[in-house]
Amino acid sequence: MSPLDLLDIDASLSEEERQIRAVVRQLVDDKVRPHVAGWYEQGRVPARELAREFGKLGLLGMHLTGYGCAGSSAVAYGLACLELEAGDSGVRSLVSVQGSLAMYAIWRFGSEEQKQRWLPAMAAGEAIGCFGLTEPDHGSDPASMTTRARRDGGDWVLHGTKMWITNAPVADVAVVWARTGEGVRGFAVPMDTPGVTAREIGRKMSLRASVTGEISLDDVRLPAAAQLPGATGLKAPLSCLTEARHGIVWGALGAARECLETALGYATSRTQFGKPLAAFQLTQAKLADMAVEWNKGYLLALHLGRLADAGRLRPDQVSVGKLNNVREALAIARQCRTILGANGVSGEYPVMRHANNLESVLTYEGTSEIHQLVVGQRLTGLSAFA
Ligand SMILES: Cc1cc2nc3c(=O)[nH]c(=O)nc-3n(C[C@H](O)[C@H](O)[C@H](O)COP(=O)(O)OP(=O)(O)OC[C@H]3O[C@@H](n4cnc5c(N)ncnc54)[C@H](O)[C@@H]3O)c2cc1C
Repeated sequence: MSPLDLLDIDASLSEEERQIRAVVRQLVDDKVRPHVAGWYEQGRVPARELAREFGKLGLLGMHLTGYGCAGSSAVAYGLACLELEAGDSGVRSLVSVQGSLAMYAIWRFGSEEQKQRWLPAMAAGEAIGCFGLTEPDHGSDPASMTTRARRDGGDWVLHGTKMWITNAPVADVAVVWARTGEGVRGFAVPMDTPGVTAREIGRKMSLRASVTGEISLDDVRLPAAAQLPGATGLKAPLSCLTEARHGIVWGALGAARECLETALGYATSRTQFGKPLAAFQLTQAKLADMAVEWNKGYLLALHLGRLADAGRLRPDQVSVGKLNNVREALAIARQCRTILGANGVSGEYPVMRHANNLESVLTYEGTSEIHQLVVGQRLTGLSAFA
């Protein structure tokens, strides 16, 4: 039993859930932990190789059914996200964007032909997907998007720019959301279509072990069959975000756990004033407060996961989880950094990397402020978005 599991929450996991968690933890130990500090420093990640490894284990589109997907429970998927993000938030992002955003959009809204074309290859990690909603001038407010799709004969022609798109520079297919005369629609855009270019966004100080890009769509001509027939209106991409946010509720706990375990180990082995840091009351107060928050976050994630498995999870409930767990994970990472003193800022330890990563996690998939507004609207019945 992990010393962090103060409330014995692990005991309420099924045997299968525990096994899946152990397998993903081992994969992260073997394929991610030994390399991730270097990837982060260099700002490079072997996304294709990782995708194939994750595909072999059935982690891509893990909670989806059919088309080569594993069909696991939401809780099992959450536990996998937790273990992946204990490795690095960027690595978890690769899996989330592939499974919960790109694959989910095609699985839920695509035609049979689109599903057959993309999902088995994406589940195996042979094809990488991305999800283009954010634009340079429209982030929290995607309803104002300016990317356009117009009909031209039997074709669609897309024009616009998508910004901050995870996986874009290495993707084979982008799910792109665009405004049409009939409202927002989604398109499965092969990245080798003439007029599509993906530029990598450099100089990131966060999520450096993740590839992020800008997608330019310069009068990109697509056949009618590229449009996702089931996606009508903005609620379609927002439903994909709900899927991905559920994974983040769990994932953030993984980053926080890695920081806490590192800080615990450091505090018990480092001596100042003749005794271990862990023996000082102030250090114990920090550790206790962080462990309490972590356990609360774990309970929250498990509750939301069980609601998802019962088919009863509402988007505003996911907002509660994303708001709380990412905010607390970031606070934990920063506090753990103080326990490591100067070593806390060193890449020799994972803590500062996790803290920096969590800055992105706090912002993407709806900023904390946006989730506060969602919860506020639920409480008051009033929208304070605009
Ligand atoms: C590393 C990384 C990867 C990403 N990957 C993807 C991806 O794969 N696909 C994708 O589509 N997007 C992606 N994003 C984009 C991300 O979803 C957006 O950055 C996010 O939605 C916020 O938009 P913005 O950056 O334009 O900030 P803005 O919307 O400009 O917000 C700036 C600040 O203003 C606040 N604010 C905005 N509106 C309100 C309001 N009504 N009331 C109060 N405060 C408000 C925000 O909370 C924030 O604090 C990624 C971002 C990052 C950093």
